[in-house]
Amino acid sequence: MRNYGPIDDFTVFELYPDIQLTHDNIEHYRALAERKLVINRCGACGTWIYPHRPMCPECWSWNVKPEEISGFGKVFMFTLLYHERDPGSATREPLPVAAVELVEQKGLRYLSRIVNCRPEDIRHDMLVRLTWIEIGNLEWPAFEPIPGLGSDARG
Ligand SMILES: [Zn+2]
Repeated sequence: MRNYGPIDDFTVFELYPDIQLTHDNIEHYRALAERKLVINRCGACGTWIYPHRPMCPECWSWNVKPEEISGFGKVFMFTLLYHERDPGSATREPLPVAAVELVEQKGLRYLSRIVNCRPEDIRHDMLVRLTWIEIGNLEWPAFEPIPGLGSDARG
């Protein structure tokens, strides 16, 4: 487990060697390393902008800054990935991957893993919340059913 604290640019590049870091997304990854999920937001009109872009698509403002999201959303769509991988990996198949529509804005969808839920229990519009999973010594955002509101709530 890493020691969380202020992380400089050099460290962000070191932590995510496989990611093409840009001026537009580096704050997103810096925040991930601090176990926070931030998404760029327009400072002029409040629109959340994802995938990350330097300019607001609604009002054309360049005043775009990262802001932490609440972590709540619902499953907009999902797929179960079956893929031959390292047999020593802790990852089990199938791997549920979803576009989670965040409560912050209609159409604001974050691609992520669904965890703590049997793949066959994942449903469209299922309410989920942010959690974190460790992959390769890094923590990554994932989403899990909200207790009492997910598939366990039936009956
Ligand atoms: Zn705007």
